[in-house]
Amino acid sequence: MRDFSTGHRWLSINTATVRAQWPLDRIVSECAARGIRAISPWRDQVAAAGLDKIAALLRDTGIELSGYCRGGMFPATTAADRAAALDDNRRAVDEAKTLNAACLVLVVGGLPGALAGHAEHKDIAAARNDVRDGIAATLEHARSVGMSLAIEPLHPMYAADRACVNTLEQALDLCDALDPSGAGALGVEGRERAALGVALDVYHVWWDPKLQAQIARAGCERLLAFHVCDWLTPTRDLLNDRGMMGDGVIDIPRIRSWVEAVGFDGYSEVEIFSAENWWKRDGGEVLDTCIARHRSAV
Ligand code: ZN
Repeated sequence: MRDFSTGHRWLSINTATVRAQWPLDRIVSECAARGIRAISPWRDQVAAAGLDKIAALLRDTGIELSGYCRGGMFPATTAADRAAALDDNRRAVDEAKTLNAACLVLVVGGLPGALAGHAEHKDIAAARNDVRDGIAATLEHARSVGMSLAIEPLHPMYAADRACVNTLEQALDLCDALDPSGAGALGVEGRERAALGVALDVYHVWWDPKLQAQIARAGCERLLAFHVCDWLTPTRDLLNDRGMMGDGVIDIPRIRSWVEAVGFDGYSEVEIFSAENWWKRDGGEVLDTCIARHRSAV
């Protein structure tokens, strides 16, 4: 396993972590100033700053994208909504390509309408069929431009409104069904990556008794991204109360050892949504703490 205690070469910052403090161009320059070599930005932040401007800024600073957040949200009840979701995912793939991202992360969606508080039906199996079909269609376009898609299984507490893919096993079943060869796009570092793989976020999967076995099943071709933060006890908000690494109950080094045992050698991406704590602090303090905890708790 790589030794992170002496440096932060493999630290990436998911830009949601300091989104309350800074716009994206400032986040890029603050990361560059601290020797942070990678980020994973969100589409709304890129749109606000301007896609071409951010692409140029990344080139100038040499900062890489460990991922791009996000595509997905496939389930729908009308043909028009289905088509709109696919169009939006095609655009997300193209933006990821322009930014030379390692992968486009997919938060696949749950019951249609549930995120807005009005689920249009209760058929989670139908939603999962929509997800399978939506990924299949998006994968065709992604392959054509050479962009990998990373399905992010989300904790089951989000099954209704954000993602009805909830375990690594379920995500890998989709990968095997839709991308059986596992061959595909060439990553930004020249590493062979599957066209369809997974983004493994310790926050979502740490509790899973099958986690180690499913990481071994994934292999490094399908492990496209590794996200870290911590699970706080108690957790006060389902979405925006993630902890800094080391402040909660996830044995992050153990999970990283499993991931690296299959050959994963990419970035460890810090992704913290924290309305009542980290989003209220100075952005520089948050980044400096991410660097320190990357060394001591990842
Ligand atoms: Zn994540």
